[in-house]
Amino acid sequence: MENSYQELLQKQALVFASNQTKNVEFRIVQLKKLMLVLKDNENLLNEALYKDFKKSAFDTYSTELGIIYSEIKLAIRKLKTWSKTKKVGSGLSNLPGTSIIIPEPYGNVLVIGAWNYPYQLSILPAVSALAAGNTVIIKPSELSLNASHAMAHIINTHFDSALLHVVEGGVEETTELLKHPFDYLFYTGSPLVGKIIMRAASENLTPVVLELGGKSPAIIEADAKLKMAAKRIVWGKFLNGGQTCIAPDYLLVHESVKEKLVEEIRKQIVEIHGTNPASSEAFVRIINPRHFKRLIKLIDITKIVIGGDNHEEDLYLAPTVLDNVSYEDAVMQEEIFGPILPIITYQSIDWAIEQIKKRPKPLALYLFSNSKKIQQKVLSEVSFGGGAINDVLMHIANDKMPFGGVGNSGMGHYHGKFGFDTFSHLKSVIKKTNWFEPWFKYPPYTNDKFKIIQKILG
Ligand code: NAD
Repeated sequence: MENSYQELLQKQALVFASNQTKNVEFRIVQLKKLMLVLKDNENLLNEALYKDFKKSAFDTYSTELGIIYSEIKLAIRKLKTWSKTKKVGSGLSNLPGTSIIIPEPYGNVLVIGAWNYPYQLSILPAVSALAAGNTVIIKPSELSLNASHAMAHIINTHFDSALLHVVEGGVEETTELLKHPFDYLFYTGSPLVGKIIMRAASENLTPVVLELGGKSPAIIEADAKLKMAAKRIVWGKFLNGGQTCIAPDYLLVHESVKEKLVEEIRKQIVEIHGTNPASSEAFVRIINPRHFKRLIKLIDITKIVIGGDNHEEDLYLAPTVLDNVSYEDAVMQEEIFGPILPIITYQSIDWAIEQIKKRPKPLALYLFSNSKKIQQKVLSEVSFGGGAINDVLMHIANDKMPFGGVGNSGMGHYHGKFGFDTFSHLKSVIKKTNWFEPWFKYPPYTNDKFKIIQKILG
């Protein structure tokens, strides 16, 4: 294992050193090829995710492949502009001179993916890294094993491993990979493992992006449009069986609208997933028995108001809503990452905000309210990765906005131009002429020289 990783990295380092990936046309050809091989193998990719957790072809397209295709198309369209050297002003201290910023690729990138959206979370960062001119090794999660095999098969069959390669494996393989001096690390997963990744990266002073998780709240104010709120919350919470990093983890609901909201949620679950979600093609299963058991333990059966049914043999847990929850309950002690929706009520928005601020900064926050004052208050007082007003999840679908966490929910961001920038070092260079040199910067220092410096620097 150790030798083969070393060999692979050496090959990637050689290709990078050859300057081949610096050529924008070369990058565009690779991106087009990636699009083509993914499209040609959609059946295989769909089947793999169905085997992993019964994800439908519709969901695989709308939450994984379609998003990758859009990202590739955008990169192909914009790459020439993004990768251009930019001229900026030089300032008085550097006249006469020209100042330029050159976006340059870092080199060899390692992308470590999570299992819940295995294609999107492994391939999307790889698209940005390739677009920026890096070579890439993808290490998908071992938990979505069929998706991991499918990606390895497709990518490793069609790409030169010196440019783009999938290495499969779990903790042991990742630990081994992390010993190598990559030029950039992009990790998606839990905050706990994020710390291990960052520690390993520090050994080689490798820059990292950490896309982590946490408990993302959705606040439902008294003035919220409850029917629409329930519809969007039910869709976003139970999509992918609740195994979405930016799913609303729990609801903070104004006590005056709680009863009505629960009834709307009940109706919407039936509307979207039917009376028996086990037979809904849009309702995926829990990824493995360990996570299934973990989720069952989080449910206080005395607090179930909707759902609760489960079949261990099929790893099925129904959309489940828990009422009268407090921050002390088991379900509030960890990120749920499953189809359980706890409801905590509040009387004052200040209390709700205080509760969120007392806890680690969430990856996402959602607010359902039409009050400009409340919107402004929440947006200005609470720090979180990203989010939405009167909706859930959809901020991730705008590639004009950066996607990433803050504090415990991560560092760095990607998507669209932000992804290209993440994988590019901005090299700043000043080009000077030879006919003028400011004499006042040289010793011996005098009062006159000091006055000139003060004038220039302000
Ligand atoms: P995880 O941290 O268990 O695993 C993620 C990756 O790390 C996998 O590839 C795994 O093989 C590797 N890994 C696990 N343990 C390791 C170790 N000890 N040393 C080295 N590598 C190790 O996370 P997960 O269970 O796959 O994903 C769930 C978490 O990811 C949740 O917290 C979720 O919120 C978060 N997440 C975040 C985003 C985001 O974009 N911010 C997206 C999806 C998931």
